Amino acid sequence: MDLGLAGRAYAVTGASSGVGLATAALLLADGAHVAACARDADRLAAALDPLPRAGGARVHARACDVLDADAVAAFVDGAAADLGRLDGVVNNAGRSLMAPVAATTPEQWRAELDLKIFSVLHTVRAAEPHLRRSDAPAIVNVNAILARQPEPRLAATSAARAALLNLSRTLAADLAPIRVNSVCLGLIDTGQWRRRYESSGTDASYEEWSAGIAAERGIALGRFGRAEEVAHAIVALLSPRASYITGSSLDVGGGVARYA
Ligand code: NDP
Repeated sequence: MDLGLAGRAYAVTGASSGVGLATAALLLADGAHVAACARDADRLAAALDPLPRAGGARVHARACDVLDADAVAAFVDGAAADLGRLDGVVNNAGRSLMAPVAATTPEQWRAELDLKIFSVLHTVRAAEPHLRRSDAPAIVNVNAILARQPEPRLAATSAARAALLNLSRTLAADLAPIRVNSVCLGLIDTGQWRRRYESSGTDASYEEWSAGIAAERGIALGRFGRAEEVAHAIVALLSPRASYITGSSLDVGGGVARYA
């Protein structure tokens, strides 16, 4: 199916690895232009340069910390000027904080809210005027199953994820006809999990270690997800073909969710 993405332009935050990079790759392969940011410009360029691009698709890559409202505005405005339009935004940049309530400082609680909430508000504020000129504007917020199924060892991240899911529903109502949807991730094999493996001190291979976690968490499909499996869900929600879907969230968790 033609997703109708060719010639359109999408901004992806946190595009130098994992889910963001896989999303940028899929958009470029479908002929869409991509505006990409991350904090480390060299790593971003090294990740994006080799990606195949269909039908003259172009990349606008900039170093930008999504916590910095002015930098986000400069990135978004620069991207729209360079690419000539902006049809969508993928709010993906982030990480999680592994700590229970008792070990989470007030500064860490605030930092999690900054990363999960204010980063999204910064991009939305900057992108809204450009998106209003598109005939098929869309925002996808990358979230986590933690938003509905909190984990005590990820206390602040779970709470901030719940707030983002709530905010996404408000934005869908507020910004219409700009569509706003969420993808809620389970355990996805990206840099986040590779880093946890490296600091775990285990003698097991990464495959054995991750299969053990998948079993312990009761993931129905018995494995971590792949970044490109998430990217397909994100791109489907960005596509003009999803024209009547807004305010919704889609779990990409291999059956790890326990809620109805
Ligand atoms: P990765 O660590 O592979 O990639 C994170 C990306 O975000 C990198 O490009 C990183 O580049 C960028 N980034 C991080 N902080 C900032 C910042 N402040 N400003 C701009 N860019 C930033 O992560 P994943 O692909 O796994 O994660 C993508 C999203 O999915 C995150 O929001 C994550 O929390 C969420 N998620 C992931 C899950 C998983 O199991 N992998 C589960 C649930 C949610 P740089 O460091 O150069 O800035």
